[in-house]
Amino acid sequence: MSILVINSGSSSLKIKIFSDIDTPAIVHGNLEKIGEEHSALHCQFAQNKIDKQITCADHREGLEQFFTVLKDNNALVDITAIGHRVVHGGEDFSQPVKIDDNVIATIEKNIPLAPLHNPANLKGIEATMYMFPDVPQVAVFDTAFHQSVPEHAYRYAVPESFYKEQKIRSYGFHGSSHQYVSKEAARILQKPTEQTNLITLHLGNGASVAAIKNGKSIDTSMGMTPLEGLIMGTRCGDIDPGVLLFLLQKYSHDELDKILNKKSGLLGLCGSNDMRDIEAQNTEQSRLTIKMVVHRIQKYIGSFYAQLPELDAVVFTAGIGENSKLIRKLCCENLAHLGIELCDEKNNNVTCGEIQSSQSKVKILVIPTNEEMEIARQTYTLINV
Ligand code: ADP
Repeated sequence: MSILVINSGSSSLKIKIFSDIDTPAIVHGNLEKIGEEHSALHCQFAQNKIDKQITCADHREGLEQFFTVLKDNNALVDITAIGHRVVHGGEDFSQPVKIDDNVIATIEKNIPLAPLHNPANLKGIEATMYMFPDVPQVAVFDTAFHQSVPEHAYRYAVPESFYKEQKIRSYGFHGSSHQYVSKEAARILQKPTEQTNLITLHLGNGASVAAIKNGKSIDTSMGMTPLEGLIMGTRCGDIDPGVLLFLLQKYSHDELDKILNKKSGLLGLCGSNDMRDIEAQNTEQSRLTIKMVVHRIQKYIGSFYAQLPELDAVVFTAGIGENSKLIRKLCCENLAHLGIELCDEKNNNVTCGEIQSSQSKVKILVIPTNEEMEIARQTYTLINV
């Protein structure tokens, strides 16, 4: 068997092929700059790597060229199912689903909640449905894992009709990542997932925190859109909504959208959206930026800790969480009164596993995320029931 996983972005496509749901992908592919004059296609196979420039007007052409490369390398044999990452499932999906016309129509209905992401995801789905009409296809939603968050936590205090008529509420994102690392954490802790309480910190270019009680998400930092919560690579995260009203006097809606989504966060504060650069800068401004990032993370650790009956572990994942020893150290600093104490030596040397000190009540884990493997697992499980 082989499971093909497709993550279709607005101008990019990422694919992975799994021959087994518990072992790393056998093929990793990436196509960037779809629709531009030159698109870059990279494909890593077990024995060889292909990097080439291609021209493709849209996602269907991009996927066709991708599949030609895969076929030429005998990687498209025996595709049992295709799993698609879909960013926004709204309130309609709390589980992965087999894709049919109704599912496509519901993803379309949710486009207003994710105007950049859902149309791109649909393009990937339409292209593969056309090319593999007989292979079952499954949609796995970024929002689905957080559908267990209780109503008092996901609602905003705006007029009731805004929720009833426009579905304005928090949804949360990075669900496949939070779910994947919480299962891995349970495995490391040797506890059943449904008895595990965690705070999972997905710290990448996009970043979010989730409170996991008995294996289920009960709160998360991202909201109706992926703009809320932590300070991110280019997104501002939490901000007084009054600031937006103030800025709207000067900037148009589109300008403000760009400022808050693309020009804020680390980039807005320090001129780079890469934490490695900011750590290397070592200036007053970069030190302030790091303090702001860590302060926001600690605020969420405290607030999520208060919602858990007991905390088994804090989990660090994604680019910064997996690689930045400094950010991990600072995030755990001064939390001994909460039973969270880091071991410097383990923090400096461990790439996957426990990094807490011997007296720490709460475990601290580094776990590399694998959203695609989680999508492959959920796809496989669904088509085999
Ligand atoms: P995304 O999938 O959201 O694009 P990633 O999870 O790949 O992001 O994380 C990317 C970010 O991880 C980079 O922008 C960089 O800031 C950070 N990062 C990667 N390696 C390191 C490192 N060694 N030290 C600090 N930050 C790192």
